[in-house]
Amino acid sequence: MPTFDALLRELRGLIPEIDVQGLVGANARPAVIDCREADEHAQGAIPGAIWIPRGFLEARIEKHVVDRAAPIVIYCASGNRSLFAVRSLNEMGYTNARSLAGGFTGWKRAGQPFEMPAALRPDQETRYSRHVLLPEVGIEGQQKLLKAKVVCIGAGGLGSPSSMYLAAAGVGTLGLIDDDVVDASNLQRQILHGTDRLGTPKVESAERTIKNLNPDVRVDKHRARLTSKNAVELLGGHDVIIDGADNFATRYLVNDVALRLGIPVVHASIFRFEGQLTVFPAHGAPCYRCLYPEPPPPEDAPSCAEGGVLGVLPGIMGVLQATEAIKLILGLGETLAGRLLVYDALATKFRELKLRRDPKCPTCGDAVDRGAIALIDYDQFCAAPRR
Ligand SMILES: [Zn+2]
Repeated sequence: MPTFDALLRELRGLIPEIDVQGLVGANARPAVIDCREADEHAQGAIPGAIWIPRGFLEARIEKHVVDRAAPIVIYCASGNRSLFAVRSLNEMGYTNARSLAGGFTGWKRAGQPFEMPAALRPDQETRYSRHVLLPEVGIEGQQKLLKAKVVCIGAGGLGSPSSMYLAAAGVGTLGLIDDDVVDASNLQRQILHGTDRLGTPKVESAERTIKNLNPDVRVDKHRARLTSKNAVELLGGHDVIIDGADNFATRYLVNDVALRLGIPVVHASIFRFEGQLTVFPAHGAPCYRCLYPEPPPPEDAPSCAEGGVLGVLPGIMGVLQATEAIKLILGLGETLAGRLLVYDALATKFRELKLRRDPKCPTCGDAVDRGAIALIDYDQFCAAPRR
């Protein structure tokens, strides 16, 4: 059996290497893979390098480099481990991989620039470890969440689960807009609040729950009702709007402001045993008014007082809203834009309806100047108790 030293000598004769100057001067920059361990990577890395720890190299390389003939340079600390890494890629059919001679030490010694990779505090590493373990999220994704700003309209039935899961996920700033106080009839579904908070403003109660869940989260409280006067100020600057409004007037206002500001809206509504969910994307099409161009006349609007709602229903729909918001922030998967998801709790069925943009839509239609969309305060024709 060969010793490690002998094996290394043999590999060095077999595996193609590139030196620092060769990498810097390469005409077309190859994919640079950093195969070091987390503690080494955290001390600095070659700018633009893809970090795949050696133990995950075979499992993850295909996600990052699809073309087996693409030029690849792998580096470790000193240029030894990367030889073994290249051998393994050769066995997987990668034909143009090289090892960086001298590794990261050689790179620094040559005076080349390096960057400090995004890092989490030790307590955040623990808190978000199940996110970081997902290659689709990782430390970078978690950093994106921590920098993200989401605003929830309503701290009630939908706002409770959505804001709590967003807070738990580490969304760094949560805006909450609600003018109501906690009532005993809310507690059947509004899990942000509790019996000891009766009479407390919902935004205050929500902040206490969220801060306890995750002190990383900054809560921007607005004890207000959204109106045409304050909507641009309250919603502007956010990455995603969660619409948990309980009335048509606010839904139209949210739609129109979001189109003006170019912010995606995750919309949900609930009634009795049924919930609906969709995403109105940042580019605005299709939008809420493509579905319902104008509010229904007050006499046709469902009477919220008679409505009633199964307590768990906003829980399900609110968690789906949080899921869509996180996907939007991370740019993951496919959102519900252009699709309306309908959940029937009694039948336990999810249905999906295709939504189409209406070219004559009053707010996202062809002829509309979105910057000039007028904001309207419709009458509150459903002034029933809040969901
Ligand atoms: Zn539209």
